[in-house]
Amino acid sequence: MNRVSVPTDPQGRIPENAAGGLLQIDLDALASNWRALREQAAGSETAAVVKADAYGTGIEQAVPALQRAGCGTFFVAHLSEAIRARAAAPGAAIYVLNGLLAGTGPTYADHDLRPVLGSSEEIEEWAGFCRAQGRRFKAAVHVDTGMNRLGLTVREGLVLKDRPELKDFEPALLMSHFVSAEESDNPLNRRQIEAFQAIRQTLPGLPASLANSSGIFLAAKPHFDLVRPGYALYGGNPTPDRDNPMRPVVGLEARIVQLRWIEPDETVGYNGRWTALERRRVATISVGYADGYPRSASNRGNSGETVLAGMALVAGHPCPFAGNVSMDLIAVDVTEVAGRVKRGDTVTLIGGTLTVDEVGRRAGTIGYEILTGLGSRYTRTYRGGEG
Ligand SMILES: *Cc1c(COP(=O)(O)O)cnc(C)c1O
Repeated sequence: MNRVSVPTDPQGRIPENAAGGLLQIDLDALASNWRALREQAAGSETAAVVKADAYGTGIEQAVPALQRAGCGTFFVAHLSEAIRARAAAPGAAIYVLNGLLAGTGPTYADHDLRPVLGSSEEIEEWAGFCRAQGRRFKAAVHVDTGMNRLGLTVREGLVLKDRPELKDFEPALLMSHFVSAEESDNPLNRRQIEAFQAIRQTLPGLPASLANSSGIFLAAKPHFDLVRPGYALYGGNPTPDRDNPMRPVVGLEARIVQLRWIEPDETVGYNGRWTALERRRVATISVGYADGYPRSASNRGNSGETVLAGMALVAGHPCPFAGNVSMDLIAVDVTEVAGRVKRGDTVTLIGGTLTVDEVGRRAGTIGYEILTGLGSRYTRTYRGGEG
């Protein structure tokens, strides 16, 4: 049975007054971040990683905006994401990072997609598919230089050049992935660069790619022929030990649905994990963990205590959460701005000083998880992106 469709506004969105949260995505900032990364990696091609629905911002909107900015190569995690990216970016090169699943060759060929081959079995399967089709389809080969997750071992990488399958398909990219490029002084970065260089030297002429967002900013400039930023495009800080060079892309506001005074010794929310030590004004906002806002941002201190927990900007003032984040609601202690807030006002959950990195930190996670968790219940508004 088909789902009943919710009436939409003229832009085809959930109407603002029918949603709990308002998500704003700035496609001009996205394009500007891509150009800034291209500048930082000058001399190399700058691709874009658009897996996980373009880090929560929407493949259908982000990919065309990036393509108009000049991006010609995209990376996704799954074949299903690649099919969506292809529809959004005709003519672009599209790679599937999670590799080749058995029997999916025809889908790759139908949509002109390229698998990132990460094991001998995948190389054999892709070569066999190409032989059967009589065509040398393109693919990347992934070498694991330290992550121990996907990719040929370094030892296998060093003898890749001797594999007979390289005549059956067209290797278009040699790639590896950093373990902790955001730690600029981690000695593993240099070890990975050296291992990657050694393999690359055995395959002259094959374009090579190692750097994610943070890798682009390493002093060693391990840009090779192509860089693969994701997080920084969407406004995350690729240099956590320095100021964020990127523009924010995502803003999230939530509506206050009720305000009340909480008397001393009363608790707020499930399990009564927050107690008003004196009379406090609490606003309840209509976003919760079902929207992807992590429950780990719950404030289990009491009123006036300083603990690491979620915050909202209310009338421009940072106000701490009160108690547990629930499924559809969060309580916020707005006592400091009590005279300036009313039912129906919006508060900021992501924006201003509440960057995606800061929201992640306050939830005990990373900004990547905040972005990729952005919920489907929000009214989404896109700004710019016309090129
Ligand atoms: C996700 C991913 C990237 C992008 O990483 P960011 O840290 O988001 O820039 C690049 N390469 C691979 C293999 C990835 O999985």
